[in-house]
Amino acid sequence: MSDKAATLDFEKFHNTIAGKPRDSPKVHNGVNPSDKTKLWDVPIATEHDLDDAVKSAQEAFKRWSKTAWKERQSLLLQLREELLSHRVEMTQMILKECGKPIQFAQGEIDAAAGILQYHATAPPPGEQTIQDDADLKLSLRYVPLGVVGAICPWNFPLILSMQKIVPGLLTGNTVIVKPSPFTPYSALKFVEMAQKYLPPGVLQALNGDDRLGPMMTEHPGIEKISFTGSISTGKRVMMSAAKTLKRVTLELGGNSACIVCPDVDVNKVAPLVALGAFFNSGQLCVASKRLYVHTDIYKEFQEAILNVVKSWKVGPAGEPGMMLGPVQNEMQYNIVKGFFEDCAVNGYQFLLGGEVGDAGGFSVQPAIIDNPPHSSRIVAEEPFGPIVPMMPWTTEEELLTRVNDTRTGLGGAVYCADHERAVNIAKQIEAGTIWINSFERPLPNTFFSGHKESGIGGESGEQGLLAYMNAQAIHLYKSDVGKAPKL
Ligand code: NAD
Repeated sequence: MSDKAATLDFEKFHNTIAGKPRDSPKVHNGVNPSDKTKLWDVPIATEHDLDDAVKSAQEAFKRWSKTAWKERQSLLLQLREELLSHRVEMTQMILKECGKPIQFAQGEIDAAAGILQYHATAPPPGEQTIQDDADLKLSLRYVPLGVVGAICPWNFPLILSMQKIVPGLLTGNTVIVKPSPFTPYSALKFVEMAQKYLPPGVLQALNGDDRLGPMMTEHPGIEKISFTGSISTGKRVMMSAAKTLKRVTLELGGNSACIVCPDVDVNKVAPLVALGAFFNSGQLCVASKRLYVHTDIYKEFQEAILNVVKSWKVGPAGEPGMMLGPVQNEMQYNIVKGFFEDCAVNGYQFLLGGEVGDAGGFSVQPAIIDNPPHSSRIVAEEPFGPIVPMMPWTTEEELLTRVNDTRTGLGGAVYCADHERAVNIAKQIEAGTIWINSFERPLPNTFFSGHKESGIGGESGEQGLLAYMNAQAIHLYKSDVGKAPKL
């Protein structure tokens, strides 16, 4: 453990306001989904705490917004080193707070470090000269917004906080991050460790109860809300932000389709499709939530995917060799259970699974439903858990009608040996990101956004930086004022 690590206590958690830890008279706890034990106390921020954080962020913005891009980048690199120096402790924390098996908990730290790394070298959105002649120089530049409120979900608490914190800070904004009350620990600890490097007020964190999110979206001192979560909450965020015309980025839910063409090597593709559907026990916004497999290979593919999923170990995250950990919280466990019950009541055939299982904690045995009707809940809604429907298709036309018959449009996957055909299918899917011959893996260097009700705006890549900036056009007339036409 490094010297810096020695000063951090991974059993104690605070909010961070104005560079300092802040406790609260009220606390709550996360629950370890692997065994339902209570985790550490976390303070519940009050309205007064939020006001203090906003004041501090506004004050810090004055200098931070003028700090050179390169200097901000060098600080991001230091944050990356700091995070990685605590990889072991942070991995254990994520294993406990999320119920992620160790390799995936480690993967979350590494992906979070990757977001810092990408932004540490990303070029600034440059000033553009639109026109420059004898009379007029017309230029367009981008300026930071002010205080950004980052509201995060529980499925990837560190990665999804980082996706907001890092571009927000790099573009000269100050950021107040609010983790999900289900998984407050990793984000609070990262913000605490960042205080050694950043001026007070530049990056702050507040854990709260159900009232904190609405307080942030209403707060007149916050210029932008970057929100990741469910569609229904996203709509509430937008309505509330409208009162002060805050900028919003909404990264919301999805019901992504995965299309398997008849020309694929079934044994190579089935493990990737299985991962796309069940990675993180299906709790991934862009997970494959509807599988469409060509009728010519339907039976063969079913056998192959069953062999893959049956070989996985499912249960408490800490046990060796675990592949699928539990669902993260009781509320989500009950939602997922509801999908199992709906399929059973309606007599849909379980190709795999059928019982939620009793492997301990909120573990759910993965299930595949064989060809349920297009109108069934399991096809039409997002379960956000390890249960997925599989349906056959014959022509691209009827397939794409079914695929696009949804108000969501987050992601999609196409497996096809013929790349031209794959791209042609991908372009007809109404969604923000399509993966071809890969399971769904967002990357920090390209824009990630939802179509339809899956979101407004987006994150990552160059376009993601612009989401944290206002445009400013400057019209410089070079001829002197005396030459201006008389009005
Ligand atoms: P959620 O909407 O319940 O909560 C998300 C966050 O919003 C939490 O921090 C919560 O405390 C806060 N919140 C709740 N009510 C609020 C309000 N009225 N105003 C402001 N904030 C409020 O979502 P969740 O259950 O944490 O996450 C699961 C959902 O998120 C799924 O639908 C999933 O698809 C989606 N998701 C989307 C992406 C993406 O990038 N598009 C990524 C991950 C998860």
